[in-house]
Amino acid sequence: MTKTATKDPVCGMSVEMTADRATSNYKGETYYFCCSGCKGKFDQAPDQYLSGSGPAKSDKSGCCCG
Ligand SMILES: [Zn+2]
Repeated sequence: MTKTATKDPVCGMSVEMTADRATSNYKGETYYFCCSGCKGKFDQAPDQYLSGSGPAKSDKSGCCCG
C-alpha cells in the first residue's frame, strides 16, 4: 500500500492523500486539505495560500483542526 502525504496549503498540516480527503483543483493541480474548512478558505483565495511562504500569517482563527 502506498501512502502519500502532502501539505495542506492553508494550515500547513501534513495530510494523507486519501480518497475521502477534502480536495480542490486549481490551475491543474489537486490540493488536499485536513478538513472541509480549509478547503473552503482555499477556494476563496487560492493565490493567497499558494504564493505565500507557508501558512498565512495570522490565520489561526478558522482552522477546524486547531
Ligand atoms: Zn487545514
